[in-house]
Amino acid sequence: MKFAVYAGHGGADPGAVGVNKREEEDLTLELMKLTTDVLQNSGHTVINNRTSDVNRDISADARKANSNKVDAVLEFHFDAASASAQGTTGFYCDGAADSKKLAQCVNDELDNFFKDRQIKPDTSTRHGRLGILRETNAPATLQEVAFITNAADVATYDAKKNQIAEAAARGLLKYFGLSLKSTTNSNPAAIQGTVTDVAPLLPKAQFKGQTPIRKWKSGVNIQVRKHSDYWYKASVEVSSKWVTGYIYRAHLKNVKPVKGTDKFTATTVGQAIWWDNDKLNGGEVLYYKPGTKMSHYGAVKGLYSAWFSKQNKKFYTTTYWLDK
Ligand SMILES: [Zn+2]
Repeated sequence: MKFAVYAGHGGADPGAVGVNKREEEDLTLELMKLTTDVLQNSGHTVINNRTSDVNRDISADARKANSNKVDAVLEFHFDAASASAQGTTGFYCDGAADSKKLAQCVNDELDNFFKDRQIKPDTSTRHGRLGILRETNAPATLQEVAFITNAADVATYDAKKNQIAEAAARGLLKYFGLSLKSTTNSNPAAIQGTVTDVAPLLPKAQFKGQTPIRKWKSGVNIQVRKHSDYWYKASVEVSSKWVTGYIYRAHLKNVKPVKGTDKFTATTVGQAIWWDNDKLNGGEVLYYKPGTKMSHYGAVKGLYSAWFSKQNKKFYTTTYWLDK
């Protein structure tokens, strides 16, 4: 496929200026380049609007996408507001159903890294209607990836930009029913697996050495209580006995307190976690959505491993997150 991956602002227009005087034009350019690499490595053709700090012309960029007959347009921006505002927002041209779907596909991936501010029509942005979304023929989305004015968002971006670029590429491809050709490689004699839709409830608030009490699929509404900053607990009936288990916060979304109680309602999120250590604890962590194809080595002491070339190290996961 052929994609236009564009960087917002540039040259005389730095865009928003955020924490530590970081400029939007630099972050958009960096993420554009990383995402372009991921897509090209997966066998796709990518055009960019700029590859250095030069002025841009939105209408010319739209014409370039149109004359190149790209299949979709993805443009990166970073949002700005008060220091406390944070999260990721996807924009689409008001009334364009295909662009709305594309915006959602990319937002669904980026919200694994940033607070989900959902998708919105371009008529609701502080910039008014967005030219790049209105003048392009192909489905187009403008992603306000995170807030450049929020220290936590910028720190997350800096720490995880490679994975964020991969997520943006994955979202773009998902719109077309495609996946990244390979998220892991350099795994000779590896097994091909597919990430399962499992949000596990575990006997202890840890991953290593645990057999799930319950394996929820995504989208199940449950009630939980807080256990720690990272874990919630939930009670389920097993063989007509109530058992309390622990569920990791990345396996829950829409966590909302129930008034007058210490409970929360939450929706389960099935996804695989890979850790850069076999303790399955801390360190660098990668998340993969159900259905992602991954190559990995066979189980050793209940753990799968794989070499991740981009991170240049080995990661580990549990066996229940991969099907053959
Ligand atoms: Zn912008």
